[in-house]
Amino acid sequence: MNDLSFEDFEISNPIIKAIKDLGFEEPSPIQKLTLSESLKGKDIIGQAQTGTGKTAAFAIPILEKIFIKDKSPQAIVICPTRELCIQVAEEIGKLSTHMKKLYILPIYGGQSIGRQIRALKKGVHIIIATPGRLMDHMERKTINLSGIETVVLDEADEMLDMGFRDDIEFILKQTPKNRQTLLFSATINKTITNLAKKYQNKPEILKVPHHHLTAPKIEQIYYETREKMKLETLTRLIDVYDLNLSLVFCNTKRRVDRLTRDLKARGFSVEGIHGDMSQNQRDKVMNKFRKDKIEILVATDVAARGIDVPNVEAVFNYDLPNDNEYYIHRIGRTGRAGKTGYAFTFVAGKEIYKLRDIRKFTKTNIKQEKIPSLKDIE
Ligand code: ADP
Ligand code: MG
Repeated sequence: MNDLSFEDFEISNPIIKAIKDLGFEEPSPIQKLTLSESLKGKDIIGQAQTGTGKTAAFAIPILEKIFIKDKSPQAIVICPTRELCIQVAEEIGKLSTHMKKLYILPIYGGQSIGRQIRALKKGVHIIIATPGRLMDHMERKTINLSGIETVVLDEADEMLDMGFRDDIEFILKQTPKNRQTLLFSATINKTITNLAKKYQNKPEILKVPHHHLTAPKIEQIYYETREKMKLETLTRLIDVYDLNLSLVFCNTKRRVDRLTRDLKARGFSVEGIHGDMSQNQRDKVMNKFRKDKIEILVATDVAARGIDVPNVEAVFNYDLPNDNEYYIHRIGRTGRAGKTGYAFTFVAGKEIYKLRDIRKFTKTNIKQEKIPSLKDIE
């Protein structure tokens, strides 16, 4: 199983070629686990930590099934956020560079619906959508789901957490019953398995073992600090570790704004991202971050969901997450695709009990270190 290569699966040449162009040397664990079943058209639930290649795991079977001559929607991927829609569309785009005349359309809120309607009219094969905007198109009857053969629920746990359950059920009911339904998630809970029971056909549950839930290539460190010391701790760590690309999580929009302002005042190139910003603003910030034009991105959980920026060197839990699963989602933004990353967590006062809880949940060692002193910084 471990020495499986992409050539061992029923993947056609144009896709194999694209995989090689992308530099993927071998399938990731979740890809090894799911590809043979998904390529046979079976329903699956795939669980693996973030940053482990779930997108390609569902993109490959989708692409294999597309009938290019029929320019109507044959697959939909439903994602929790706009950023993720764009990212998934990009990844599928890369995997299909050698497939001619294939049209992929991301549809999400905050973008002109007229433009999306025009694109749909011209004909697309694969749609990547947020639930809200997809519902909008369905109500306007500007989208035809009768030819859908594959539905993917990407980051299913996050979508359910965000309250999209009814929308998702509505969408699934509008697609043909004999479709293939693929469900991917970083965590699997009862809500997910219930949804699977209702809408999947004898799904195979395939999990990358739990002890791999957080990547071994992420060094996890925590610091006992105080609210007033957090900013100082953050800037010292950035200096000591010589970090060029960091993602910092705060628990509220206001704290994101404040920290962004404080870091700017100290001369860092930094931007904040949260749900109150317009789509346009958020896209601009994400682009800057992807292109290394800013060194620190301060974010709330919602804004950062599923974001894949290769090269993030460190994730900071400036505030401890309120939910254990968020810890995994957050730190999964670094150490991606075989690179080593740091996850620094700030623990203020009595929060140490929360950290113990996170440790138990993730079954990993989060070691304590002392805050570097000014002497450590030359
Ligand atoms: P997930 O959805 O599990 O969070 P992604 O699909 O976003 O993860 O993948 C994370 C990164 O890993 C992406 O940049 C992707 O191109 C890359 N990747 C995917 N599969 C492989 C592979 N087999 N080998 C190397 N890199 C990969
Ligand atoms: Mg993903």
